[in-house]
Amino acid sequence: MNDNASTNNGLRVLFASPEVAPFAKTGGLADVAGSLPDALRRRGLDVSIALPCYRMVREGGFSLRPLLAGLRVPLGSDIFKCSVLQAQTKEGVPVYLFEREDLFDRPNLYATPEGDYYDNLERFAFFSRAVLLFLKETGSPVDVIHCHDWQTGLVPAFLKTVYGDDRLLGTASTIFTIHNIGYQGLFPREKLAVCGLPAGMFRMDGLEYWGQMSLLKAGIVYGDALTTVSPSYAREIQEPEFGLGMEGVLRKRSKDLYGILNGADYTVWSPDEDPEIPYPYNMDRVGDKAKNKEALLAETGLKDGLRNRPVLGMISRLSSQKGCDLLIQVMQDIVDLGAGVVILGSGEEKYQTLLQEASRRNPGAVSLRIGFDESLAHRIMAGADILLMPSLYEPCGLTQMYALKYGTVPLVRATGGLNDTIAAFDPETGQGNGFKFGPYRADAMMRAVRDAVRIYQDSASWRTLMRNGMRQDFSWDRSAQRYLDLYRGIVSSLGRGRASVR
Ligand code: ADP
Repeated sequence: MNDNASTNNGLRVLFASPEVAPFAKTGGLADVAGSLPDALRRRGLDVSIALPCYRMVREGGFSLRPLLAGLRVPLGSDIFKCSVLQAQTKEGVPVYLFEREDLFDRPNLYATPEGDYYDNLERFAFFSRAVLLFLKETGSPVDVIHCHDWQTGLVPAFLKTVYGDDRLLGTASTIFTIHNIGYQGLFPREKLAVCGLPAGMFRMDGLEYWGQMSLLKAGIVYGDALTTVSPSYAREIQEPEFGLGMEGVLRKRSKDLYGILNGADYTVWSPDEDPEIPYPYNMDRVGDKAKNKEALLAETGLKDGLRNRPVLGMISRLSSQKGCDLLIQVMQDIVDLGAGVVILGSGEEKYQTLLQEASRRNPGAVSLRIGFDESLAHRIMAGADILLMPSLYEPCGLTQMYALKYGTVPLVRATGGLNDTIAAFDPETGQGNGFKFGPYRADAMMRAVRDAVRIYQDSASWRTLMRNGMRQDFSWDRSAQRYLDLYRGIVSSLGRGRASVR
């Protein structure tokens, strides 16, 4: 595998993730699975990544090298053949791409605006098993498989059952990371047979979830250790309000559950070296942010008069989790304060329609772009004054961390990782990096918006606030080390690892 990396105690780790930036992305998971391995490699870890070869990977202009053909993967009563291609990250981490056109050559990763792909169970059961069979086929044992979200929840399940006694795979430990408990990978119980897993696993302390099977629960039950993406969220998901039915099983595994805050990749998200923005800037040239704002107003059709009024940006999946209902409720009040709003988002149709109506009612004041546009995301980050994240819940949130670096002040609801990273600004002391509100209600959000608009008018306070954020460091440094410690800990506590087969 990764022969060039200087070794970190000889440990070898494979990431299995349904999305990895820049190859395939719908949200923050991709950013994490793309940048954490690089941070680990810089610390000498032998790490590689497994990812389905979606259409957007094949057509994304990446350099892909054929590695293996004809890998035989059982699925239902058939054997599916799979090819594996290889690419690499910026730091040279190998990325193994599992290619099967009938499953992955589609316009989206998981769903269309109308709903999920009908065969997601088959797609990700195939991927999970293919990853394990690839390791067997190439004779490349690993110490830890680090699995991400429900799409890879069957990896630990296969390892604890079908491959429990396998000489090569049986030595691998698993870490299962929950990026969002709201996505549970629920499927009819009959599908268990398609996965090739023993029928006996369909029980309450297995992967049954109220009469269905849950791939997320499979990861939670069978993973050797569990992590989630912020300390607050690790606590929250053990309570009924946020656990969405998984709180009981998570409480049972409480001592194996770690909250590790995600890190920002400042090689991608730094205003002074961002190729996507017209006027790079930094703390010493923060005035140049205004030029980016002018360019953004022109690009998005917002009126020129907003130059001296706050522009609130939102870059988000359009889902109830992200607070879209709240945003729609307060939109007119925000406009009536004389502020502008620019939204880039894709997701549920109902939110797309409601936001379209709001922008039609307020030409020049509310601008909406439906779609996924990485490049525009950077220009909004640079050009907006305030970044909105009124999330109903937020496991970690990366967008607010990026915004801080761009001097774009986050206005967030105090939940999960938003609560961990944003401190309310106090104009008296000059401390704090953003605006926060608690209750998920329009009046609470508008109170925060009014505070923000008032402080925006006091340019000295606003500069202090921007600088407080720009100065902060949410890079992977600390969190990557925590993952390394966890890998080492799990291998030594389970007495596993490749050493045991040598
Ligand atoms: P989540 O993972 O819940 O979607 P995060 O804040 O952790 O939320 O990460 C979202 C990531 O996806 C950020 O990199 C953000 O810039 C990006 N993003 C979200 N929606 C869009 C979009 N419509 N176009 C471009 N980038 C987007």
